Amino acid sequence: MVSTPELRDLPRPPTPKRSFDVAIIGAGILGNALAVALAKQGRDVLLLERDLSEPNRIVGELLQPGGVRALHELGLEGCLEGIDAVPCHGYQVRYHDDPVHIPYAPDENGVRPQGRSFHHGRFIQKLRAASKATKGVTMVEATVSKNLVKNSASGHIIGVRCTLKGTKDEICYFAALTVVADGCKSNIRSEFITKQVQVKSNFFGLELIDTKMPLKNHGIVCLSNRAPVLIYQIGTHETRALVDIQGKAPSQADGSLKSYMLGAVLPTLPEDVKPSFKKAVEDSKSIRSMPNSWLPPTMNQTPGVMFLGDSMNMRHPLTGGGMTVAFNDVVLIRDLLKDVEDLEDTDLVLEKLFDFHWKRRNLTSVVNILAQALYALFAANDPNLAVLQKGCFAYFQRGGVCIDHPVGLLSGMLRRPLVLYTHFFLVAFYSIWIMYKTTSPFLWPVCFFRSFAVFYTACVVILPYIWSELQ
Ligand SMILES: Cc1cc2nc3c(=O)[nH]c(=O)nc-3n(C[C@H](O)[C@H](O)[C@H](O)COP(=O)(O)OP(=O)(O)OC[C@H]3O[C@@H](n4cnc5c(N)ncnc54)[C@H](O)[C@@H]3O)c2cc1C
Repeated sequence: MVSTPELRDLPRPPTPKRSFDVAIIGAGILGNALAVALAKQGRDVLLLERDLSEPNRIVGELLQPGGVRALHELGLEGCLEGIDAVPCHGYQVRYHDDPVHIPYAPDENGVRPQGRSFHHGRFIQKLRAASKATKGVTMVEATVSKNLVKNSASGHIIGVRCTLKGTKDEICYFAALTVVADGCKSNIRSEFITKQVQVKSNFFGLELIDTKMPLKNHGIVCLSNRAPVLIYQIGTHETRALVDIQGKAPSQADGSLKSYMLGAVLPTLPEDVKPSFKKAVEDSKSIRSMPNSWLPPTMNQTPGVMFLGDSMNMRHPLTGGGMTVAFNDVVLIRDLLKDVEDLEDTDLVLEKLFDFHWKRRNLTSVVNILAQALYALFAANDPNLAVLQKGCFAYFQRGGVCIDHPVGLLSGMLRRPLVLYTHFFLVAFYSIWIMYKTTSPFLWPVCFFRSFAVFYTACVVILPYIWSELQ
């Protein structure tokens, strides 16, 4: 397989070992979990990471119960220990300071599951330590180049080119299966995935110290006339605040961003949070931000390579679903590849990847569509969306299945797309009813026409996402 003229000229790695069953690009959330899972099947796994030092990012800090459960199934639950992780029992959604409590729904045994929130970097280092300690995983600090190694005759991907940390020379490693798990800014996907990343907004992250939470061990979602603010504890003393900003954000350089945070965002926050939020803004040299992206999933169809994690599929992080999707994808792919003895059998691997694409839907389409639809309602940047936002909040206030089902879907525990569609349209009808209820009967003829616009808006919010998940 490595005898084509192109490959003969390729530079050799310095270690004697250069051929593996699997090469994984990126020792992040997905890469580590997959490395451990496949090595436990007796496979020889190479895990390549450009920077093995502890990451300091504002992403991946709240793991939903469905993600905690998948971590258990992978035998990696110990990675949540010793990092000052905080249990999460659900959410409090605040609509113009009016709160509604949304605890995680009880599971099939009547037990309410828990999520966990933590410092992302500490969790990643625990996952990396687990990879390192697993027999069969070789971890190498190297930056992988955009161009994977291709067999020029068959077009199959047969390995990676990379530059080891501290060197300048490019070397190659070969593998029966290359997994691209290089995250949201993947520079490898453009050659293989034609779908475009759409950036919906940006999250600006602040770390608040010793905040008094309005509801302990819960994520707080603040809704107002502006885009939503998400607040959750990431350690005993530290709390993350993520402020969503749509469109062009105010400038950091001339201080407009700080003024926006203090003048426009601060007044919309719970009283208890205000002092630490104000201090965090005033003390920060630069407020970090991350794009909130949407990338619908793509079926892996190129022999020898598989895209997983954010490199293949992203959703708005408002509902904290990315890691839950990643760990559940690892569980599924592990089970599907279990019976594949030789990963060089690319036809069989592609068959398994076809199954993977459809089987992951029950969870991922729910998490993806819910994240996008809920964000549209919670950001409510037009009057019809504002009607839906108000209706959605009133729907949650009804309690019972009106919160148990939506939070079950969000937490990755309830994996039934039809339940999501049913509740979404119930929210739309309930919103229209609330609109009539809060409008003088003299204006009901106006409401009549408005209700069509609201229903049309609801359809425009959800149907494109449902369609993208069906492909
Ligand atoms: C603002 C924000 C907040 C979020 N909050 C949450 C949350 O609370 N809960 C949740 O579940 N999800 C959250 N997410 C999503 C979550 O962070 C991602 O879904 C998850 O991290 C994806 O894992 P991954 O392994 O695909 O990528 P990553 O975890 O980003 O890992 C990619 C790895 O690849 C490495 N890499 C990249 N390029 C190369 C290269 N060329 N060579 C070698 N290595 C390379 C990187 O250094 C990195 O270690 C959030 C996302 C955003 C944007």
